[in-house]
Amino acid sequence: MAWLCADFRVDQESYQHYGYHRVIFHESARATGNGLFVAQVYEAIIKFQEMRGGGTPMRLCLALFYLVYYRNDPQVVDKAKVLLNQVLRSKSQINLATGYNEVDCLDEARDRLAELLYEQFRYTSELTSKQQFLGEMRKIQEENVNNALYDTNPSESSTAIIYACMLRKVSSNSQFQDVLERLFQSCVKALSDTDSSNDQASLVLLAKVLACVPGLERDARIAFSAKYSILDQKIALTSEDGTYGLSDIHRDDANDKGVETESIPENSAEQQSENKDEESTVEWKEERFRYKSHEKWGDILPSDPIKCSGNSEHVIRYWESTPIYVCITYIDVHLCAACFENIKLVNCGEKAWNDIGTRRFCGEDHRYIKGPIEGWKGIRDGVIVIEREDVETRMPFKDWLEDLKMNRWKRAWEAFWKREDLVNVLE
Ligand SMILES: [Zn+2]
Ligand SMILES: [Zn+2]
Repeated sequence: MAWLCADFRVDQESYQHYGYHRVIFHESARATGNGLFVAQVYEAIIKFQEMRGGGTPMRLCLALFYLVYYRNDPQVVDKAKVLLNQVLRSKSQINLATGYNEVDCLDEARDRLAELLYEQFRYTSELTSKQQFLGEMRKIQEENVNNALYDTNPSESSTAIIYACMLRKVSSNSQFQDVLERLFQSCVKALSDTDSSNDQASLVLLAKVLACVPGLERDARIAFSAKYSILDQKIALTSEDGTYGLSDIHRDDANDKGVETESIPENSAEQQSENKDEESTVEWKEERFRYKSHEKWGDILPSDPIKCSGNSEHVIRYWESTPIYVCITYIDVHLCAACFENIKLVNCGEKAWNDIGTRRFCGEDHRYIKGPIEGWKGIRDGVIVIEREDVETRMPFKDWLEDLKMNRWKRAWEAFWKREDLVNVLE
C-alpha cells in the first residue's frame, strides 16, 4: 500500500496521476491478465484509507485503471464513472501516505468524466439519454468543489468545448454560442495580459474554440501553430512568475545541438513600422540579452518535449520532425503523424484500437487540428510569419488577435446565424 500511495504524483507530460510504481502495477495486470487483482488491491486500500478520512487519490487511480484497461466494457466504465463523481465531490483530497493536498485530482476527475460523458452521449441515439448525459455534464461544469486551493473555472477550461458540442446537438445553438463566447473571451484575455505562463494552454484552447465555429478554420490553425512561439519577448522575459526566464533558458537552448540558432536582427523594418513601443523594446533588448531564435520556427518557447498521446515513446518537440494533431474534444490529446494515421485506420475499420497501442487515448471519428499551418515560419519579434508560394505574409500577433476579437469572430457568428442549413440545390 505504501509503495503505491507514496508514488502518487502528477505526470507533467500527460497531466495524469500516474506514478512510476502505478505504471508497473497496472502493466502487471496486462502481463498476467489479472486485472481483477489490481482492482481488489485498490479497493482494499480505499477502504482502509476511508476509515482515516482519505482515499480520494486512490479512488482516482482505480478509475483511471478501469478506463485504460476496461475501456470496452460498459459495466466497468460505469464503475469508473461512479468513482470519478466521488472524487469530484470528495470533501478532502489529502494523500494520507504523503500528507500532500492533491487538489489536481479534481481537474483530472472532471476531465476524464467529461470525456466519458461525451462518448456516452455520442453513442446513444435516444434523445432522452442524450439529454440525461447533457444534464450530468452541466452539473460538472457548474458544480463547486470542496477545496479552497482549487482555482479552475470549468467554464473557461477545455471541458467547456465538450459541453458546447453537446448543447449544440440537443439543446440550442444560442447556448452553444454562449459557452464558446465565454471561452473565447477568457482565451483572448489570457493572451492579452502580461503573464505569459498561460499563453501556450490558451492558444490551444483558443484553436479548439475557433475550430468549432464555421469560417474560422484558418485562424484555428494559426492559433495552434503559435503554441510553441514566444508571442511577446518583453512579456516573456518579465513574466510575473518567472516561468520563462528567457535570458537564462535560451542560453541553454543555444547550446543544444538539436536546435539551430541564429541571432534576431536588432532592428527589423517591420518593428520600426509596427511597434509603437519600439524605443523601450530596443533599449530592453540591448540591456538584457543576446536573444537566439530558431532558424525555421522563429522564437520558440523554452519547454520540455512532450510524449505523443498515441505512444509514449514518440517524443514531440515543437514542429521539429512531424506535424502534430490536437484532438478538438478530448482534453489533452496531441498526436504525431504516425499515430494520427493509425487512428484514421481505426476510424475506417481497417484496424482495431488494440492493434495500434496498449490503451485507447482518443475516440472514434474525433476531429483534429493539424499544426503547423502550411508555410508557418513562426513568430519573430512578435510578428507572425507565413510563407506560401514565395509570398510572405507578416502580421503582428497582437494585431491578429485584435482583429480576430473585433471583426472575424463577430462576422463568423453573424454568418452562423444567417446560414441556411438546407441543401443549396437538390438535384
Ligand atoms: Zn505517436
Ligand atoms: Zn479525440
